[in-house]
Parts: sequence; C-alpha cells; structure tokens
Amino acid sequence: ANADYIPALAKVDSNLFGIVVITTDGKIYSAGDVTSEVSIQSISKVFTMARVMEDSGTEVITENMGVDATGQVFNSIVAIEQYQGQEMNPMVNPGAIATTSMVKGGNEKAIWKNIIDTYDDFAGRKLTVMEDIYTSEAATNQRNQALAMLMYAYGRIEKAPLEATDIYTRQCSVGVNAKDLATMAATLANGGKNPVTGKTVVSHEIIPEILAVMATAGLYDDSGQWLYKTGLPAKSGVGGGILAVSPGKFGIAAISPPLDAAGNSIRAQRAIADIANALGGNPYDPAPK
Ligand code: GLU
Repeated sequence: ANADYIPALAKVDSNLFGIVVITTDGKIYSAGDVTSEVSIQSISKVFTMARVMEDSGTEVITENMGVDATGQVFNSIVAIEQYQGQEMNPMVNPGAIATTSMVKGGNEKAIWKNIIDTYDDFAGRKLTVMEDIYTSEAATNQRNQALAMLMYAYGRIEKAPLEATDIYTRQCSVGVNAKDLATMAATLANGGKNPVTGKTVVSHEIIPEILAVMATAGLYDDSGQWLYKTGLPAKSGVGGGILAVSPGKFGIAAISPPLDAAGNSIRAQRAIADIANALGGNPYDPAPK
C-alpha cells in the first residue's frame, strides 16, 4: 500500500508507474508514466549529502554521524541512543537531518537555495516543492523533530535543530518524475557530470563515498537483500520512487507508490532489478578474462 503516516501520501494515485534508464552518454529510454510527479522523500538525502561532501569534505560525514547501517528502522530513536548519535549514516532520518543542518548558508533561505539548486543541477531542470505534501508532513513530523532534538543534545547537530527539521521536510517534499530521478542517478553514474545537460554538478572524487553510503543503507532494512540481487547503489523514498546507479554505465529510476513492509516500492524494485540485471549493470559481476 501507499505510505500513509504522512497523510497526503495515501492520496497519491497507486497506479502511477514509470521507468526511465539514462546512459552515461545521455541516451534516454523510458516506459510508462514518466511525467507525473511524486515527492522525492528520502531520495533527497543522497543529494543533500552530496552538497555537504562537496562543500565541506567527505570526512565531516564520517566524523559526525558515520557511515554504518544501524540495523534499526529509518526513524529509530534507539539507534541514536545506542551510540550517542554516531555509528549511523546520512540515509536514516537522524543522520539526514544532521546532514541538512550542515548545508552552508547564512539563513534558512540561503540554505534552501543551496539545496534546491543542487537538486535542480542533478535533475537538469527546475524542481518545485509539492506544497500539499510539505504542509501535511510538517503538521505530522513530531517524531523527526524529536530525532533532531536528540541529535542536538548529543552535539551532532550544532544549531537550530527544528529549523534543520523544517528544511529537511521541505527537501523531502520536492516533486520529481521518473525522468528526473533517472537523470539524478545518471549524473552519479557519470562521475558527477549530468550526461543530459553536460554540467559538472559535483566533483567525481566524492562519488565513490556517495555510492558506498547508498549501497550500505539505501533501501532501509532491505539494503542487503537489494545489493545481493542487483549489486547497485540505490535509494528509495516513501513517495514510491527508487533510483539506482550502475557506475560508468547508466542511471535507472522507477516510480510506483505501493510499498512493501520495509518501505520500498514493490514495482520499482522489481522493474529496476530486472532491467538493470538484463543490461549487465551489476558491478560485482566481472567477465572472466
Ligand atoms: N520525509 C519522510 C520522513 O522523514 C521521508 C521518509 C522516507 O522516504 O524514508 O519520514
């Protein structure tokens, strides 16, 4: 079923289904509904992390929240308590909100501009916030506020934890279609250069670390199962999108709102796994010489 802990997500058309593959030389292959938008949700975490790594270096992530799987759900309070806000990663909510709090900018507006400009460059077009999703999530995100306050208490968020939560909620509400997500994935697959627009979005030096975090924790508690099946660094969101990266080859994304128990889109997982494997996308599958 669609996610419903954010009330507006329950109302999204469950039949929406689109798939796009974009190669690192910019060829686009698509099927289904590739223009309808869903909220990006957790997939945004990858691109905010990319912004922070690009501006402040990859070590700020390892030194702050870390890059390990928590073994707990994505919005776990226990995971923070266990290691005082460390030994987790930027793909789970406490690590993601802490990452958002590290984006440079003198005020909320400047921080937001840094974030949305980054997403726009990855997607190759201007993206906008789905205000109904933002309003719905902002009214019901007390748990994320609690996570942020706890990270603040442990010194993992240095200032304004509730402002960081609000910006995080806004970044999760950005509307994307399947082609946007595939372009974002293809930019990662192409070493940080958008293969459709030709723009260098982030430097290629940080791509291995970004992909490693995605591989470790991109599909919630099923990240290991996903890696086992596909070998692909990927990220899912409760809006129903998943993107995956075949390094040097292609980015692939699918959108379909109904989720499994782990919170990953059922159709998107199946479509991406089948297509990526058929295309020889698994980086752990070398041909013998
Ligand atoms: N905005 C959602 C939350 O923080 C994102 C969750 C997700 O996609 O995993 O609960």
